[in-house]
Amino acid sequence: MLDFDELTIRDQVADSSVIFQRGRTLYEDGAYMCMEALPEEGRYEYQVDGNYGDYSTVVVVGDNGLDCSCDCPYPGPGCKHVVAVALDVLDRVQDWQDKSSTQEPEKLSDYLTPEEIREKAMEDRRNRARKEEFKLIRGDMIKGDHLLETEQGRQYRVTLHDPANGLGHCSCPDFNTNQLGTCKHLLALKEQLLRKKDLEQGREELFPFVDVYWDSAQGLPRLFCERPPGEIQEIAPVLEKYFDQEGIFRFENLGRMLDFMDAVRERKQVRIR
Ligand SMILES: [Zn+2]
Ligand SMILES: [Zn+2]
Repeated sequence: MLDFDELTIRDQVADSSVIFQRGRTLYEDGAYMCMEALPEEGRYEYQVDGNYGDYSTVVVVGDNGLDCSCDCPYPGPGCKHVVAVALDVLDRVQDWQDKSSTQEPEKLSDYLTPEEIREKAMEDRRNRARKEEFKLIRGDMIKGDHLLETEQGRQYRVTLHDPANGLGHCSCPDFNTNQLGTCKHLLALKEQLLRKKDLEQGREELFPFVDVYWDSAQGLPRLFCERPPGEIQEIAPVLEKYFDQEGIFRFENLGRMLDFMDAVRERKQVRIR
């Protein structure tokens, strides 16, 4: 694997020293999230908070140097996002090499188990939930919708099913692709923003509507419903036809969702996102 350090990033990755400094600040703020790390291939994909949304930034550590790309509007190859990500990748590579040198060679593959990748991904989100500041715009109930506003002023809708365990879903792009079943917003809401009193109140509530949402961990639509049987009597057979006991969509063919949507079209108690 290529040896690279901060100077390589400053001199060969950043378009200028000003951009290097800006990237360094982003890196220090931790304003990014690792979406996928493949140390053996040297490929790292991140989501970086930008001024106008989240950017997807990829760094590949190859034999001939760093190959970087970013989908932000900056016109050159060496934007500040790429710099921030390259600095974080440098940490990871060093970490990996440190661990490798103190381990038996046959244990190296341990670093790549899906559980470890998942744990690392969870850790990233927990750190960001702790480090970043969010403004909570409360919904009427504890169970149901809340809005979380980021420091950059972007709002995401977090829908809480089980407040005490922080379960639910979020409208952010990370939740919808990370396959973790959580995101920094859900974690921040549970860990930081809701008080003990809120969690107690949540235990008394019934989730206010029939919720159909995208479950990225399953890669399928999912149903969450706590409405009393009397209230959903008429649509219960439809719900049962399309969703199993766990609430997971019964069909691999997502086209069947259109049939489901058709069947509940006039039903105000059902919300599909
Ligand atoms: Zn960029
Ligand atoms: Zn989120």
